[in-house]
Amino acid sequence: MSDFTFSTLEYQRPDFAAVGSFAEQMAERMKQAGSYEELKALMKESEEASKDFSTMCVIASIRNTLDTRDEFYEKEQEYIDEQTPLITPKFLAMDAALLNSPFRADIEKEYGKQYFVQKELEKKIFCEANIPLMQQEAKLTNEYQKMMATAEIPFDGKTLNLYGVQKYFEHEDRSIRAAAVKAYSDFYHKNEERLEEIWDELIKIRNEMGRNLGYENFIPVGYMQQGRTDYGQKEVESFREQVLTEIVPLCEKLYEAQRKRLGIDTLKFYDESRVFADGNAVPAGDDDFMVEQARKMYHEISPETGEFIDFMIEHELMDLKNKPGKASTGYMTYLARYQSPFVFSCFNQTIFDMQVLTHELGHAFAGYMAMRHQPVMEYYSESTDIAEIHSMSMEQFSYPYAEQFFGEDADKFRFAHLQEAMTFVPFGVAVDEFQHICYANPSLTPKERTLEWKKLEEKYMPWRKYDADDFFDRGGYWYHKLHIYLYPFYYINYTLTTMGAMEFKKKNYEDHAAAWEDYLKLCKCGGSMSYLETLRHANVHNPFEAGSVKNAISVAKDELFASKYMKED
Ligand code: ZN
Repeated sequence: MSDFTFSTLEYQRPDFAAVGSFAEQMAERMKQAGSYEELKALMKESEEASKDFSTMCVIASIRNTLDTRDEFYEKEQEYIDEQTPLITPKFLAMDAALLNSPFRADIEKEYGKQYFVQKELEKKIFCEANIPLMQQEAKLTNEYQKMMATAEIPFDGKTLNLYGVQKYFEHEDRSIRAAAVKAYSDFYHKNEERLEEIWDELIKIRNEMGRNLGYENFIPVGYMQQGRTDYGQKEVESFREQVLTEIVPLCEKLYEAQRKRLGIDTLKFYDESRVFADGNAVPAGDDDFMVEQARKMYHEISPETGEFIDFMIEHELMDLKNKPGKASTGYMTYLARYQSPFVFSCFNQTIFDMQVLTHELGHAFAGYMAMRHQPVMEYYSESTDIAEIHSMSMEQFSYPYAEQFFGEDADKFRFAHLQEAMTFVPFGVAVDEFQHICYANPSLTPKERTLEWKKLEEKYMPWRKYDADDFFDRGGYWYHKLHIYLYPFYYINYTLTTMGAMEFKKKNYEDHAAAWEDYLKLCKCGGSMSYLETLRHANVHNPFEAGSVKNAISVAKDELFASKYMKED
């Protein structure tokens, strides 16, 4: 098993019927276990089976994205998608056997109480009455996703998708930037009616789900879907308040300095992505060069990351170059049977490629460590409010190595990256607050909702000026945010984890060895603890406590203001 490479792994279609009856029988056998030792052996047996099963599903999914024209894996993926919901109740029956086991206390003693927390949550957010609502919800979110994926935007003599047109937001010619933003805005404006309807229906459906589960609306269910067990709306609200007082004024100063750098009277929305008058940092070499620099960097950071990157390269666990037929996406996943992360991306020869080599590989490193330090598969991955600390902190750990990737553009890379990390946060909390407003006030009309977004922009992004774009100017910008439609209440995670990453940045400057030790603790612990417990375990502050945002961003703030790019000529 140790000498495999991804491309030579043999795929076999998972036998869903066999897996289903195995799970059914296993649930019975678990119920009948006469001792904890017997039950533990059954848990191990079921884990080994699910490692094989999930690994086959993941291989099919990776190969389907590696070449979307390959009909074989397309069919396999369709088959897996179709079969999975049918065997889910059988897996839930196994969970129920464990939840109700007379040996539950023994399991908790050995693996910690977190073992049942997730299983309890899954039980709590499921009820028969919600099944048809979940199906309607999936239909609507698929429709939104399809509208976005098939967008055709005529621009620059070409037909571009939403991703393609956004590249022009950085263009050196201001009128081209303005025209690109207008073309982007026009796409949403043209689809406004249907986008309003989909969102209206989603709010109704999700609130009904919440009521079916005994709540006033969807909000508490959304929090549970995110795996949150030790914080709620009140804490999130106080965090948004800290962002408003600490980060919004900082961002205003950053954009004012950018306005001066660009030499313009007013910084418009279409100028926000043009960080420097003479353009962004560009990689100092081709794709292979970037990967080789990453290999060197990970060997310098620590022995653990050195071993990890060699493992990734040796077993072909990274597919990063853009190729015909590849899905235009990026992700990290893992092959449990091989204790192997896998990273997928499409390099585009911009600073984005560095992001892949640090952010996605940060996720992968965390998975690599958790798979080697956690006793059960349930703990191999963690909730996303922890996972993004792994990835965003690795981005920060890479700063001292930027010269290797960008040569004389290294300072530009670091400045633009850090500015983006800060300016993202107010937008992120606005997206979160917007969702709370919509679910808590279902009687708002679609136009009133969009006006609410406009008010949030005025509150959290007071620098924002859309110029002559009436649609964005009356609040239409929120429609582009896929998470609002697809992943309710997910978005706040990115802003909470930014604080964790900034803390690691600070610690890394003060004492690299101590910072790295805490980071390893965070990665090794995987999903074995709750959110606040994980933070405590890794010596990271609770972002909800008063003063924590100010403290977390202090070093980032100093670094930005000390930069030559903030100095006036
Ligand atoms: Zn991530």
